Parts: sequence; structure tokens; C-alpha cells
Amino acid sequence: MRIIFLGPPGGGKGTQADFIAEKYDIPKLSTGDLLRESVANKTSLGNEAKGYMNRGELVPDAVVIALVEEKLASPECQKGFILDGFPRTVAQADQLANFMVSTGKEVDHVVYFSISKDEIIKRISGRRSCQECKAVYHLEYVPPKEQGMCDVCGNKLIQRNDDEPKTIESRLSVYQEQTAPLIEYYKMKNILGELDGSGLVPEVQDRLLDLLSYQKIK
Ligand code: ADP
Ligand code: AMP
Repeated sequence: MRIIFLGPPGGGKGTQADFIAEKYDIPKLSTGDLLRESVANKTSLGNEAKGYMNRGELVPDAVVIALVEEKLASPECQKGFILDGFPRTVAQADQLANFMVSTGKEVDHVVYFSISKDEIIKRISGRRSCQECKAVYHLEYVPPKEQGMCDVCGNKLIQRNDDEPKTIESRLSVYQEQTAPLIEYYKMKNILGELDGSGLVPEVQDRLLDLLSYQKIK
């Protein structure tokens, strides 16, 4: 199964990608996580990406494409993958399409997470993440068992720099301008399924499983 999760920041893509990755035993490739890891490790790629990320802008296409292609070519991605947060521009989508042609495989599903702006802002403002194992929580909707600590690995939870209120608006405009055109792009290719991303995590999970099984039959 090769899937793309498309949608606004804070839409719940990463949360649902973790669920699908575990259920189908396929890797989740989150470009945001990969970039944050590069920043934390102070690699040259991370140093280049840091400023863009802190400003809520997209990291240049060439940087992200190289990162994703390297991962997609790795043995663990041969049985399938979920792309979370990639592609985010038409240039990235074109490049991914070329890459898939070169492997003789196809993306099976593109799931578009549809969700209101009010809900996005509530979700991003309350998001807390574990820097160690990347688990994601929400202060109100998905609280950890012990306040401020990760249930999975016991490390401290943090608020991402780019989740602060001053950056949220610019990330949403970047999404509208550069990523939302991909909805039409994949509609034209007939592989887009729209998912109502509102409601509790288990409700969205159920809708997602329905959508994936329906798209498979088609
Ligand atoms: P994205 O990967 O699209 O940026 P996340 O999966 O990180 O989004 O979710 C953003 C925030 O919203 C996180 O704090 C997460 O715990 C929370 N969240 C995810 N899905 C839901 C949901 N269905 N209802 C409420 N909160 C959610
Ligand atoms: P995310 O974790 O998906 O919310 O991504 C966090 C940040 O990483 C984004 O705001 C961008 O700065 C950067 N980023 C993640 N994925 C991409 C991508 N596909 N293209 C460009 N920048 C990206």
C-alpha cells in the first residue's frame, strides 16, 4: 500500500499515519519529522532548513525531494509507505510522479484531510510532541497519562517552535497558496479521496479505514 496524506498543518495526518503504519506494518515517512531530526542533529541539511521551518515557510523543493527519494529507495519502503506532509508543492508532486514511474510502482491512495480553520488552530495550539520518539499529544484532546511526559518513552513533551501562534497564520497561508492546489492535481488523476477530519481520533480512524477499503475496491 502506497499512500499520500494531504491536508493542512494540524489536520491530524501524523496521528492517523501512525495508526495506519502500525495496522498495515508499513513505514510512515513524515518530512516534518525528518527535517526536525536534521535540525536537531545540526546536519548541513538541517542548518539550511531551520530558518524556513521557524518562519513557517516551506523548505526548498530540491532539499525535501532529495530527502524523500533517498528514503523511498530504501529496503523498508519496498513493501509500501505513507507519505505524511509530502508532496507539498506541484513541483514535489511532479518529481514524485517521475520517481514512481522509474520504480514501476504507483501511489494507490491520496487522502485529503478536510477540516475547518477553527479546529486546525485549536489542534495546533494544544499540540505537544515528544522530541525523542516523535509521539504526538494534545493538551485537551489527546492528553498524556502523566502531564508533560511521553506515555511511550517517558521523555519530556515540548511545543514545536512553529506551533506558536505567530507562526500558525503564515503556515496556513503557505498551505493555501502552495499545497492546496494539489487537491485538484490529484483529483484530476482520479486517486484523491476526501476524508472528513473532524471529530475524535477514533471517529476519524473509522472513516479513514472505510475510505481506504472503498478506494481499494474501485
Ligand atoms: P498534522 O500531522 O496534520 O500536522 P497531527 O496529527 O500532529 O496533525 O495533529 C495535530 C494535533 O491535533 C495534535 O496535537 C494531535 O494530538 C491532535 N489531533 C489529531 N487528530 C485529532 C482529532 N481527531 N481530534 C482531536 N485532536 C486531534
Ligand atoms: P509538518 O511537521 O508536516 O507540519 O512540517 C513542519 C515544517 O517542515 C513545515 O512547515 C515546513 O517548513 C517543513 N516541511 C515539511 N514537509 C515539507 C515539504 N514537503 N516541503 C517543504 N517543506 C516541508
